[in-house]
Amino acid sequence: MNLEPLVKKTLAKIKLNKREKILVALSGGKDSTTTAYLLKKFGYNIEGFHIYLGMKGYSDRCLEAVKKLCKQLNIRLHLYDIKKEMGGSMCYIRTAIQTEAKGKGLKNCAICGVIKKWIMNKKARELKADKIATGHNLDDEAQTFLINIFKGSPELSLNTGVISRNVKDKQNRFIPRIKPLFYVPENEIREYSKKMKLPVVYEKCPCAIDSYRIQVRQFLNTITDKEKENIVKNSEKILKNIKRKQTPLNYCELCGEPARNKVCRMCGMIGVRNKNSCS
Ligand code: AMP
Ligand code: ZN
Repeated sequence: MNLEPLVKKTLAKIKLNKREKILVALSGGKDSTTTAYLLKKFGYNIEGFHIYLGMKGYSDRCLEAVKKLCKQLNIRLHLYDIKKEMGGSMCYIRTAIQTEAKGKGLKNCAICGVIKKWIMNKKARELKADKIATGHNLDDEAQTFLINIFKGSPELSLNTGVISRNVKDKQNRFIPRIKPLFYVPENEIREYSKKMKLPVVYEKCPCAIDSYRIQVRQFLNTITDKEKENIVKNSEKILKNIKRKQTPLNYCELCGEPARNKVCRMCGMIGVRNKNSCS
């Protein structure tokens, strides 16, 4: 199926309402740029959100691309400067975490992912967004599912899907996340973004050196897009039944953000001692 009809079908599955405010998490890369471009093209109510990570050169090129896109689409852009808000670039924060005992062994992308998700949810709630849209694609999802299986933690895949929400979020603090490109292979997104001449930074993040994910990605490059689709669609079928047993969502006793345990992953990682130090 062509990219546009496939994304439309995915959005229909999510049952998105055109009045809802959708905050698109824009990295400057091809996936989130294409996500914003298509949501706007299909008439959804979107605004952009970019976390400036403070990595010299790379982050500046990402910021420029995001600004250009938002101007082109005529949408608002909300910026979060990690240096200003948290006192250091992502590299700085990550290295500090990795040198602490509890952060030892944590991979770059894992740390960055936890921090970005924490910021996105908090800011989306402050901006009164109904949904957060990310650029995750079919390849990302197949990778994540396989990594969770290989590492013996399939339950971690429970949070993925075209939409992640938590029905047991009594205080409505978790902003549902949607993935309009969930069924679209990465190659097709690259081609599409080039065809449409979208402002995209095609280089990879210089810190993305998570060897295990690269290994799984290399393996997935040896199979067809149809086979990747089978991995993702069958994982959805398997997880559907388990999803019904969702446990109540907790709220972090340090920062108040949604958490699976008493303390959220972000606070567990940065070892905050009180409410103010991570808000
Ligand atoms: P990644 O974890 O880098 O593969 O990114 C997954 C998704 O998170 C992207 O498709 C974007 O939607 C979002 N994202 C990544 N980096 C940023 C950023 N710096 N600012 C805002 N959103 C981001
Ligand atoms: Zn917390």
